Amino acid sequence: MKTFKTYQFRLYPNHKQIALISKTFGCVRFVFNHYLTKQKEEGIKNISLLCNDLKKLQEDNAFLKEVDNCALRCAIFSLHDVSVNNINKENESTKYKSKYAKQSYKTNNINKIYKNKLYSSIEIDLMKRKIKLPKLGLINIRGYRNQKEIKGRIINATIVKENTGKYYANILVEEDIIPQTKVKPKNIIGIDLGIKDLITTSDGEKYNNEKHIIKYEKKLKQFQRKLANQKKRSKNYYKTKKKIARIHCKIKNARKHHIINVVNKIVLDNDIIISEKLQVNKMIYNNNLSKYILDASFTMICNLISHKAKLNGKYYYQINTYYPSSQLCSKCNHKESKLKNLNIRTYKCPHCGLELDRDINASINIMYEGLKLHYQKITT
Ligand SMILES: [Zn+2]
Repeated sequence: MKTFKTYQFRLYPNHKQIALISKTFGCVRFVFNHYLTKQKEEGIKNISLLCNDLKKLQEDNAFLKEVDNCALRCAIFSLHDVSVNNINKENESTKYKSKYAKQSYKTNNINKIYKNKLYSSIEIDLMKRKIKLPKLGLINIRGYRNQKEIKGRIINATIVKENTGKYYANILVEEDIIPQTKVKPKNIIGIDLGIKDLITTSDGEKYNNEKHIIKYEKKLKQFQRKLANQKKRSKNYYKTKKKIARIHCKIKNARKHHIINVVNKIVLDNDIIISEKLQVNKMIYNNNLSKYILDASFTMICNLISHKAKLNGKYYYQINTYYPSSQLCSKCNHKESKLKNLNIRTYKCPHCGLELDRDINASINIMYEGLKLHYQKITT
């Protein structure tokens, strides 16, 4: 069985490498925008035609020859993907890449065999803490201290420069997972994902954003207020902007680590794990957390559980989005359709008298519903 995993490394490029990376950002943008114009004017959509044309473009613009050729091809692929994605969307046309947006480029790992030895364009040495990237050579990295090597096939690398000025490489790796013989289930848990409490389990546990994340969020608001009062495009305005980007980055990392810890605990302690299938855009958002962050957290939680469960031979089920987990009574199955209001935090059953925290009640229902899926699976 194959699975994909993304490793993120912090990069520490030297001055020469930084110059080449920013040149590559520029060239990738140039190629993307050039062919987007061509697409719009001449209607050329065929990807191999565009790729064939790239050679000619490089002849006409010598600076394109100085950077990673594969990155330029990837720019054409990404233009193709974006265009295909936008075909069915109304009012959605492919946008030109801007110099002022987040800078990134992707390059594929290319393998070559020379004199019976395998050479790859992207290589990572975790012991020496180095990554080899096309044209850039070796760059110092940080990350994955406890791992000795990357097991699996490197597919591609995306080089990113964050607004904070930090460089990262996201490495997509295809890993073989040896499907563990499934455990004999003893413990089962239902999980409710929510706005007020990030994760509520049928064990009655609630996992929220930790205190230090809340502290950062307060700080963020403070600086956002400061920014609003500053003169736009002044020196101090940009200083504050950089600070805000740094806090955003800290929050993102802290949240990621917190989620990984919670998921690890849940998967280790349980054999059957059940959550809802997400359709996040249908949910209602409050002002405390932006839609984007919640989307990202929920998706990350579900993907992580799925990955960890596979690795450990545990079962993971996702129940139908439309299952009314928060309206049903987990004791007598009575359905209370009035309970759509999110401000009501306690489930009170008029039928059997149950009074239970709304999210715990929902997570118990999710557990029961998932158990049905489990029995369907093992009996067919
Ligand atoms: Zn009841």
